[in-house]
Amino acid sequence: MEILHLRNATIKLNYGGLTFLIDPYFAELHSEPSMGGKSKNPTSALPIQISKIIHHVDFVIISHLHPDHFDRLAQQKIPKDQAIICQPGDQKSIQSMGFTQVIPMQEKMILGKTSIYQTSGAHGFGKMAEIMGPVSGLVFQNETEFTLYWLGDTVFGEEVKNQINRFDPQLLICHAGGNKFFKTFDFLGLGLKEDTSPLIMDSKQLEELIRFAPKCKIIATHLNALDHETESKESLERMLAENGFPADRIYIPQNGERLHF
Ligand SMILES: [Zn+2]
Repeated sequence: MEILHLRNATIKLNYGGLTFLIDPYFAELHSEPSMGGKSKNPTSALPIQISKIIHHVDFVIISHLHPDHFDRLAQQKIPKDQAIICQPGDQKSIQSMGFTQVIPMQEKMILGKTSIYQTSGAHGFGKMAEIMGPVSGLVFQNETEFTLYWLGDTVFGEEVKNQINRFDPQLLICHAGGNKFFKTFDFLGLGLKEDTSPLIMDSKQLEELIRFAPKCKIIATHLNALDHETESKESLERMLAENGFPADRIYIPQNGERLHF
């Protein structure tokens, strides 16, 4: 398989002979509002022209409808007859944007010789997970490929452990920017009395994941793109070095980097 990491959660995945574009977030550098009070978003540029990104895609996958996973520019640029796989609850919204080939995820889908399983997650802890709404991840299985578990926007917890135990994947992709909302900026107007806990994984949870899945190679993304992150490539690399985790097991790709497994 080939994983082309584009930016934030956006990746182009070649798996079992099919090409998937996952969570397309196409906004131009600094064209969207700040979420953390530090900078306009996104904080890095796409490494490749959008026309090239959307070329030769079999399926677009939308894990949930937050704008850093499917933004206005992606909604404009992706052809309206492109096949899109989404959470069942998001199907109507995506159809109302004009897309005609919208396929709700199922517990198990078979595309060619690849089986794809929907997983869930928790987009934060406690009440924040409710506020952030349902999220999905996917497990990709094919006889000719490593089993890949793309966790989606989730913190590390029981669901993730259960899926790792169930599918025994060789490769994980997790979102590890440690994004939060801050009481000093309160982007959602929640009346925050303190900063929220992380809404996706942070360095501490990545460490737990690495220890929980000692056989897995792990790719960490959803970094270096938004101003409400609390982690960076450097902070995660510090954690990896402090714990002596082998560098050939954990990958933190730059925008535009291609990984092959
Ligand atoms: Zn996100």
